[in-house]
Amino acid sequence: MFNYFQVLSKLTTFFKSLGVKAVFDTSSSRDLTLIESCNEFITRYKQSNSTNDVKSKSAFPMISSACPGWICYAEKTLGSYILPYISPVKSPQQIIGAVIKNHICQKLCLRAEEIYHVTVMPCYDKKLEAVRDDFVFQVDSEGEKITEVDSVLTTGEVLDLIQSKSVDFTTLDESPVDKLLSNVDEEGRIYGVRGGSGGYADTVFRHAARMLFGKEFGGPLQFKTVRNSDFQEVTLEVEGKTVLKFAQCYGFRNLINIVTKIKTGKCNYHFLEIMACPSGCLNGGGQIKPKPGQSAKDLIQLLENTYSENVLVADPFENPLTKSLYNEWLEQPGSEKAKRHLHTEYHPVVKSISSQLQNW
Ligand code: SF4
Repeated sequence: MFNYFQVLSKLTTFFKSLGVKAVFDTSSSRDLTLIESCNEFITRYKQSNSTNDVKSKSAFPMISSACPGWICYAEKTLGSYILPYISPVKSPQQIIGAVIKNHICQKLCLRAEEIYHVTVMPCYDKKLEAVRDDFVFQVDSEGEKITEVDSVLTTGEVLDLIQSKSVDFTTLDESPVDKLLSNVDEEGRIYGVRGGSGGYADTVFRHAARMLFGKEFGGPLQFKTVRNSDFQEVTLEVEGKTVLKFAQCYGFRNLINIVTKIKTGKCNYHFLEIMACPSGCLNGGGQIKPKPGQSAKDLIQLLENTYSENVLVADPFENPLTKSLYNEWLEQPGSEKAKRHLHTEYHPVVKSISSQLQNW
């Protein structure tokens, strides 16, 4: 079996054989998403007057926004009451698009329309995310929309592509990884955060505990299963009071449960990492299917193990790539520039009269 770095190196060879100029891992853009999310959480926390009655604070729970399955459901079904809770920070897919079409184009003296940017993602919903009007980078002189991400392939579609070209992936050469936007250190190790679905609850919790309460956690956080393995929470207590309460909430059953609690004022979490798929992104609908005889559960476990064994855990704030992007371009987390390029807006979808009549 190949390790994460070898697979990225072989994918680099494969894509470059098709004419692709550069292949990046999305960890650095995920780090930007996480930094902006951490900054937003601290701002919300400081703006709320009390730390012991989160139920009455409209700032909480802050809800992650990287899952387009969740966002689509929230906009279409939940509308205006839920949207203020959702973090405006773009997903890693859209952030790498914004980085490439803005900063990298400027740096390399290219025009955005000269770049065709394809992402590889675990689900089909990412294709819908990429075509949202909020992610149109500019409209050219002929009225053509230039989007941050031009096309999205699922991991399953990448496998189909490899097979359609009759390529034996196992014997492919390993090409040097493009380091401009990939989290690869001098020793050739991939670095990033814990968690197969982006590590939002984990990273924001650690940052908030450090910045607000001076608490550091060396190893993995102790998430406790609340209702089922797809709903887990972690808390920080100071002097007998719960000062931080975070949860990972995966799958629609848990999601519907938690939004009902928010609507009825019974949700006492500060932060929710919501993902529409049960087991999160590793189980996304566009992922490569299990082999014959392998259960979906076994495959997810294998992916989780492979990720944790191969990725060097590193603080997004210490990432040299994110540091240089802030130094050269974004100034600082939460700056006007960072908000312009890395944040977005959500919109309640107004039902048409005909669909309202159908429901009537
Ligand atoms: S949880 Fe599922 S729908 Fe949401 S981003 Fe991950 S793979 Fe896509």
